[in-house]
Order: sequence, then structure tokens, then C-alpha cells
Amino acid sequence: MSKQPNIDTSPPVSDEIRKTTCYMCACRCGINVHMKGGKVAYIEGNRDHPINKGVLCAKGSAGIMQVNAPSRLRSPMKRVGPRGSGEFEEISWDEALSLATSRLAKIRKEAPEKLAFFTGRDQSQSFTSLWAQSFGTPNYAAHGGFCSVNMAAAGIYTMGGAFWEFGQPDWEHTKLLMLFGVAEDHDSNPIKMGLGKLKQRGAKVIGVNPVRSGYNAIADEWVGITPGADGLFITSLIHELLRAGKIDLDYLARYTNAPALLNSDPNDAEFGLFLRDDDGKMLVIDRNSGKPTAFDKKGVQPDLRGTLRRAGVTHKAAFHSIAETYLAPEFAPEAVAERCGIEPQTIRRIAAELARVAFDEAISLPIEWTDFRGETHSEMIGRPVSFHAMRGISAHANGFQTCRALHILQILLGSVEVPGGFRFKPPYPKPVEAHPTPHCQSNPMAPLDGPHLGFVRGPEHLALKPDGSAARIDKAFTWENPMSSHGLMHMVISNAHAGDPYKIDTLFLYMANMAWNSSMNTKSVIDMLTDRDDNGEYVIPNIIYSDAYSSEMVAYADLILPDSTYLERHDCISLLDRPICEADAAADAIRWPVIEPDRDVRGFQSVLCDLGARLGLPNFTNPDGSAKYKDYADYIVNHERKPGIGPLSAFRGDGTETGRGSVNSEQLDRYIENGGFAVTHIPDSARYYKPWNMEYQEWAVGMGLFDTPQPYLFSIYSEPMRKFQLAAEGHGERQPPDHLRKQVHDAMRPLPVWEEATDDEGGEYPLHALTQRPMAMYHSWGSQNAWLRQIHGRNPLYVPTKVWEAHGFQDGDWARVTSRSGEIVVPVAHQAALNSNTVWTWNAIGKRKGAWALDQNAPEATKGFLLNHLIDELLPPKGDGLRYSNSDPVTGQAAWFDLRVKIEKCAAPDEPQPAFSSLRSPVGKGPKNLAWKVGS
Ligand code: SF4
Repeated sequence: MSKQPNIDTSPPVSDEIRKTTCYMCACRCGINVHMKGGKVAYIEGNRDHPINKGVLCAKGSAGIMQVNAPSRLRSPMKRVGPRGSGEFEEISWDEALSLATSRLAKIRKEAPEKLAFFTGRDQSQSFTSLWAQSFGTPNYAAHGGFCSVNMAAAGIYTMGGAFWEFGQPDWEHTKLLMLFGVAEDHDSNPIKMGLGKLKQRGAKVIGVNPVRSGYNAIADEWVGITPGADGLFITSLIHELLRAGKIDLDYLARYTNAPALLNSDPNDAEFGLFLRDDDGKMLVIDRNSGKPTAFDKKGVQPDLRGTLRRAGVTHKAAFHSIAETYLAPEFAPEAVAERCGIEPQTIRRIAAELARVAFDEAISLPIEWTDFRGETHSEMIGRPVSFHAMRGISAHANGFQTCRALHILQILLGSVEVPGGFRFKPPYPKPVEAHPTPHCQSNPMAPLDGPHLGFVRGPEHLALKPDGSAARIDKAFTWENPMSSHGLMHMVISNAHAGDPYKIDTLFLYMANMAWNSSMNTKSVIDMLTDRDDNGEYVIPNIIYSDAYSSEMVAYADLILPDSTYLERHDCISLLDRPICEADAAADAIRWPVIEPDRDVRGFQSVLCDLGARLGLPNFTNPDGSAKYKDYADYIVNHERKPGIGPLSAFRGDGTETGRGSVNSEQLDRYIENGGFAVTHIPDSARYYKPWNMEYQEWAVGMGLFDTPQPYLFSIYSEPMRKFQLAAEGHGERQPPDHLRKQVHDAMRPLPVWEEATDDEGGEYPLHALTQRPMAMYHSWGSQNAWLRQIHGRNPLYVPTKVWEAHGFQDGDWARVTSRSGEIVVPVAHQAALNSNTVWTWNAIGKRKGAWALDQNAPEATKGFLLNHLIDELLPPKGDGLRYSNSDPVTGQAAWFDLRVKIEKCAAPDEPQPAFSSLRSPVGKGPKNLAWKVGS
């Protein structure tokens, strides 16, 4: 035998592994960062992590290019040229923080509301809101108003939680999953893994989406619905189920407010409100006694048909209204089919399929459990039908009611919190009553009177000044958008520019690319950011911005506070915030600096600790005036929201306590040793029926999720919405102004009824136009990433076959696309698997020249485009002299997907129009080839 060469076929790839949490999207998978010579060599998934169990997506592995991106900001900067020029001077942190402190201190002393502090897709909202509350401004929110507040708020108002971070399908048992409008970038590894399990078991997936891409491409059935009609389709499914008697009556009677007695006298001032006892508890008719009884009394059996005449007023179980509403002929499949773009027989078949799987293929787990009425059940009955939805159905002016309708559909099937159905993730489920109401009382040198954001229960909770004007710059929680639980970030710049409801001094933004893809009507937002008054001063006087990268927004700020990247910083994925829990477990996680920044940057949250101390804010200073927290890591460990409850739930006290426990100075070390996360499993008999399962309720109290058990009923009928309607009808002390009475009355229907989202019937602008983000990118972060750019570096407008042929388009053609507010000229491409009245493109691929350290000729800057230029942040005038925001009238969610356009073939310009001038890059341009070597 000849001698073989001695080759090491498996050399060590790293000399150390550091375990932390991915932040290339919001799924927050566990990652093992392989280090070589102190540098990141590569990233793999953490097999022990509850979210991804070792799975890593393309975005996650490309994190190495994100932390080495040429577009990283390098130092604090002060603007030296005009706004928008990109001309900056690098300054020290001391100078930057002194500049910010002197300006903010003056505001706080005179009028704290003159600070508007809004954050983008960060994951530290419990911290940033505490900072804003301590400062005393009412003007704080994160980006939920332009993301998916409709989904979150509709879920919480209806059933105490929603999809995505709040809950998930029971991947182990579900047999039929319906996906509606899922954003492919957002719901990444967890849903891919879940879909993989379904495919393995032969479960059926139905995708409802105008575009057949991503998850819809692997669905067993694709329903190419026309945009904005999801609510109509869903209510038609409800109609069919009610008509066929295929609803879970026992579930409705036990766990929902369907049997609760409603005042049914249209002449009574309490018409449409629930009848309550002296303790404020809803009354039901008990089937045992035939008498009105508190809904939660031991042994009560609520009657769905209950009626009661008391003091001359008739009260009927809410179920009567539910049945009357949805059995109306307007919801019959034939009546809705054309608007939905779905054949009546398809609607009927899907309704029958849902019923068959829910009831004929019901499952049972032999697990005993006890409900809040004291009844012990020998089994857990499962309806193995589940649903999942995201922005596609919510970013419409009718999105809130559409999301409510979807939740009601799954409740009618009895498939929420049961085996095979939709399951909540701790800290959900939580009734609306467990959430704060919004607060807006602002006084100089004082903290706000409570949390900014919350869930209104009636007009008394609106954020209005004594004269009835909006207390907040974004006009959240006003009659225009009463339930705007996440604020309206997309209205901040235009309201601040208009001085409506008042002028502000400083706009303080974090991670929000408002001068580009995060704004509607980008060009006019840029004009507002640069507009000057008669004195030559900027109309929005001062803009402070923090970001890790040289995004388009950087050029429009006066002061830049450069953030660190996700491998260079501490973060806390907290149960107080948006945690990483699973349906069977509470879980939280950290990020920690696996590498040190090689630039003069600081984690934004640490900067806020410093600014808070310099400003002397309560919660950020000790009684002697010294800084309370050295940095964000110090805050994560030592902050207590309530005694014993801090940002991280595990390794508290002596290191063995979970949920509640005193501060443990070694807590971060324990998390790092544990792989960067901690998991606490829910006991077996508490895993399902959580809102009503006393063992879960007691487990949740032990975990510090709430202080006492709080079982509750799902709100098919929304009493808070009815209270707003009553105000619009002329009842109560707080009533809407006359010009909004009709809007409030129509929008706040206690049972969701579909309405067309826009007044535009499709005459002049016959096509719907959508954007979605590709699976390989998250927000705009991905298109500066050297690896991910190779997947999507440009974006055409996808055109359906009917329109393609009608216009005689050929490959390589361009089109002029016009909406009521703007025009773009872009390349087109043919897509057959697309609703025939819809065009669409990928969002946030197009970049402005000079931004993100990209070359002037980069395809993102010369071939990519934004649809945003066509979307107006205001609706057309309605003739009353006022302009209303392009938002859902319930929550204020930005109605991105109500866009209507027309297209026509045109000559190809050199690059998509409108073209913007090049920004001067404060970080220069990246090298032609991005390459380096780690280790020897
Ligand atoms: S799904 Fe998101 S969090 Fe998970 S690896 Fe991919 S980018 Fe990272």
C-alpha cells in the first residue's frame, strides 16, 4: 500500500464558541458564534435553543457580513451642511451627549411634550418606554402603528393575545392550517419548522394571499384573494358554519361572552352593554336554575339562548346578535365572491373542510384539568384546525375588524387554546383588563402619569386635552383612532411639520428609516424634514437619530448617536417585552458582546442610561443624583419593575429562582453559561385551555406574569367598542366632535362587519398594489449585506397575466405606475400565480444613492425602487376641510395595502423614477470586494 498523505480533513473551525441571540430578524433564534483569533469566523444555529433548535436561515448565517458591513457608522456626528446633504463632522461622545442633554433638559424644564421619541424595530420597548415616561413626554411609541397593530390589538381585545409573538399553531396536532397574508421575512425559522412538521404528517396547508410566493408557494391550496377582502371572505366562512350548525356550542357557552346578557332595548342608554351584577360581573342565564347568574359562579352552565326582562328592559345572550349578524344574506358566498375574487363553491368547500376537520376529526388528550368554575375535566378536547396571519390582512383601513373576524372564526370553531388549534405563548393570554390604559398627563420636570400606550376600555381613556384636542403628536387615542394601542409613528413627521396638534422641538428617532422605506410618500416626508419657516429655521427644529448603519435617515438628522451591532452589545429579550416563549414554556434570552466594537460606537440603550442620568430622570438616577445604571447590562440585572420582577426571569435570587426573586448580580453570567437563554416549562395539565385552566393561572402567578389568577371570557362581542358607539350616538360626557360621529359609529361596531377599505371603487385606478419583504431580508437591513444582496439586488413590479397581456408587455419592459398621489416608472415582470387585479413588488430593496455605503451604480440604487412614493399618508379631502390619515379608523394602523394604481407601458428610462440626488455618505463607500481572513 502506498503511503497516504497526512491530511487533516476536519480542521477546527474555531477556537471558541460564544452563544447569543440572532438579530437578523425578529424571530430571535439561538446562535453559536464561532470565534477565531478573537474574530467571528462563522455562525451556526444553537441546537439547544427553544426557538430554532439548531436551524439557521440565510439571514442568520449572513450576520457575519452585517457586523463587518462597510455601512456601519463609526462615531458620533454633528451635521455641518444643510439637512439632507449628508455633511457631518465626527465628534466625541462627550460632546454628543452634552449637545443632546442641554437641548433635552431645556425641553423637560419648559414643556416635555416638545420631545417626540419614537423607536423603530428595536426590541427593548419596556426599557425605552420607561425612559420616555421618566422624561415626561406623552410622545412615545415604537413602530407598531405602521407594522401590525391591527393584528395585535384585535387579538388582545378579542381573546387576550394574537398570532406570532403572542401565540402559534399547535404544530404537533393541527391537521389543517390556514395562513393569511404572512410576511415572509418576519415569520421565519419557527414557521418554517412548523410547516415542515405539518408536511411530514400530511396535514393540509391553505394559503390565502394575493401573491403566491414564499409559504403560499408550498401550501397545498392557494387562494389568490383580492387585497382588502379578507374580512369579507372570513365572515362568509362564519356565515356558512353558522348556517350548517357547525360551531362549538359547548366551547362558546363556557369560554366566551356569547351567553352574556346584552341590553337589547334600542331606546335604552345602555343599549348594547352587558348586564352586570353589583360586583361588575357579566350575567348569564344558568341552564340549571334558569336564573341570571354571574358568569364565573361555581357550577354555572351558561345558556347561549338566554333572555331576561328586567326593569322593563329586555336582555338577550350576545349569541343572538352574533347569529343574526352573520346569518344575514350579505355574507352568503354568492354575495361576496366577486369582491373576494374567490368562487362561491370554493368558499363553501373551505367552510365545510374547516368543519369536518374541527368536529369529525376532533382529538382528545387524556389530560385532566380543572377550570375556573371549579369543574374538573377528564380530557382535553382538540379541534385540530389552526390559523396564522400577519400584516397582509391587517395593513388595511378595515384591518382591525378583519383581524377580529379571523379570531372570531377560530373561536366559533372552538379551536383556540385547545389541542390542534391556536395556542398562546406566555405572558399571553392576558385579558384587556390586565393591560394598562394610555397615559398622557405631562408636566415640566415630572415623569408622565403612567405608561404611554395601553388598551382603552371606553371614551374616558382617550388621550385628549381638556379642550378635546389631541394630547399626543401622533394623535393616538383620539376619536380619529380610538384604539391606537401602538401609536401612529407614520404620522409623527407630518403632524410635527404641520404643528398639528402642536409644534415640537426635538424629534428623537431610533432605528427607523423614516426618510426612505418606513414612510409613506417618501418624497414629501423628505421635504418636511428639510422645510424651513419664514425665519429660515427648520420647521422641525431638532432631529436626533440613532442607528448602527448609514441609512437614508442619517442624512436628515442634526445629531447622530451611532449604535453597536447585535454581536457587540447587550440586549434583553424579556418577558416584560416581546419574549421568545413557546406555547409550552416561558423563555427569555440575552445578547452579549461576543466581539468588541472596533469603532467609537455605543449600544443605544446604554446611551439612554447615560442621557437619563445626565438629565436627572427618575428611574435613571439615585437619590444622591448619581447615575443609577452604568450601562444597559447593569439595568438588565438590577432593574426591578416590581419587587422581585426584573427584565430577566431566570437565575434570580441565589441563582435558582425563576419568575420572582431578588436581584442576582451574576445573572448575565448564568445566562451566558446556559447558552444565552432560559426556559421554564409549563406543567402538562396547564398546557392548554390557559385562560380558564386554574393550574396555568397559578403557574403564571408564580412566574410573575400576573399577581393573581385572572381567568376571563373571550370577547366575541366587544363591549369597549360599543361604548364608543354609544358616545357617537350622543351618550356620556365624552362625545366625538360632530364631523367624526359617523366614522366612530361605523368603525366601532362591536361585531366585525366588513367594509370596503377605501372610497376608491377602482374606476380610475383599477389595480391593487402591494409590497412584501422577501424571506431573505428583514426590513431594509438585508440589502446592504454582501451575501444577501446577491439574492435580491433589484426588484421589478410583478404583473398578473391578464394585465400583462392586456398591455402587451414583454420581458424587459417598463411601466408608468400612477396612484392618486404620485407616479413611478419601473421595470415589470410577469407572474402568473398572482391575483388578476393586483401588482406587487419587494419592499426595501431600492436604496438611495450614497446610502448604506453602496456604490453609486449598485443595482439597489439604479434598478431597485420603492412603491412608497405612491402611498399618501393622508386620505383625499372629504369636503369637510379636514384631512384624515391613511390609517385604520380603529387603531390608526397605516393602511399600506389599500393602494390603488393604474399602469401603462412606457419607454425605459436609465433608472427607475423618481430618481433622487445622491447623498454624501458619512462612511464613504464599501470596497469593491469585501474579503478578510480570520485566524492564521
Ligand atoms: S429566522 Fe431570523 S432570528 Fe432566526 S436565524 Fe434567521 S434571521 Fe436569525
